Amino acid sequence: MAEKYKGINTICTHTGELEDEQFKGAVSPLYMSTSYAFEDVEVKRYPRYFNTPNQVALAQKMAAMEHGEAALIFGSGMAAISTALLAFLHKGDHVVFQNTLYGGTSNLVVEEFDKFGIEYTFTEDYTPASFEKQIKDNTKVIYIETPSNPLLTVTDIKAIAEIAKKHGLVSMIDNTFASPVNQNPIDFGIDVVLHSATKYMGGHSDILAGTAIASEEHIDRIFQLAKNFGGSLSDYTVWLLERSLKTMGLRVKAQNENAMVLAEFLHQHEDVGKVYYPGLESHPDHNVAAAQMKGFGGMLSFELKEGLDADLFQKKLKLIKSSMSLAGVESTILSPSKTSHGLLTPEERKKQGIKDGLLRFSVGIEEKEDLIADIEQALAQIK
Ligand SMILES: *Cc1c(COP(=O)(O)O)cnc(C)c1O
Repeated sequence: MAEKYKGINTICTHTGELEDEQFKGAVSPLYMSTSYAFEDVEVKRYPRYFNTPNQVALAQKMAAMEHGEAALIFGSGMAAISTALLAFLHKGDHVVFQNTLYGGTSNLVVEEFDKFGIEYTFTEDYTPASFEKQIKDNTKVIYIETPSNPLLTVTDIKAIAEIAKKHGLVSMIDNTFASPVNQNPIDFGIDVVLHSATKYMGGHSDILAGTAIASEEHIDRIFQLAKNFGGSLSDYTVWLLERSLKTMGLRVKAQNENAMVLAEFLHQHEDVGKVYYPGLESHPDHNVAAAQMKGFGGMLSFELKEGLDADLFQKKLKLIKSSMSLAGVESTILSPSKTSHGLLTPEERKKQGIKDGLLRFSVGIEEKEDLIADIEQALAQIK
């Protein structure tokens, strides 16, 4: 059984590590077997049952990081999200979703739920009242995502957890943007925490994975479906992900610090319009964020002043690369209206407040001075 460490860096580095009894090596041995003995053993092990030595060890680390009892590790964030949702939703049930969801999650809902006979409603905004308003007799699940993509709105986690308890619903959160270093929703009463481990957990833009973290009881229910859906992660990637997680506390804290400095720099810059970062006091949800987050994260968005070409600006950046994904140690930037939110109609984007010139910035661990210099030189070239 894993030791109970309290500090995030100790959990990241040590919780759940496997001992190399044979050679006393420093890191967890990797067990790649897909075939284990069935006679005279306690556990019938098989990778798709989520119970190989490396899967079990890493799940302990994940659970400890999020203050949950148990975890399951999946082959992608979407495998974790789809399996968790469908584990708690049956034909005829209803689920309330936050209006601003990760694109893959809203595609799952809009493209697949009808065929399962599952009803759904998206909220009008992210206030607790707008969630409660949508609850019906057959509602079973309430699902939030905070901070949201790409405008970094902050949903009040405790208020949502209380609404869920009051109505006997299972509450779920996509905690990817915050990461477990900055936000632990279970402490505020949320039932199921979901992550795309492809992002901050992996942290180096080279692993696709996901995780669900919850009580033993809820994880067992998700497992019953997960073993049939078959979305487990290969042990080799589980082992790589363990290595990534060892430095996660350090990485994310460096990204928080850089993002705060960059947000302040952009906020006071004469060529920059609105800046969206929960750490700024000017952010409408700053107080909610301060109450539920330990750090404000590495994601921010901003607009250039009227008349400045955001596409050209992006092309002139040298250090900060354009990228579809996010949360690596390297700084990246994208245009939501052309990528993540490109499938929405211009009216839908306008309704969500996503302007064509909006830029989403995933702040890495580079030196702040180099990031600022890169932005300055790009701005100088487009004026
Ligand atoms: C990337 C992402 C996902 C999906 O994760 P995959 O690992 O790509 O399947 C879900 N939610 C958020 C917020 C994400 O950023």
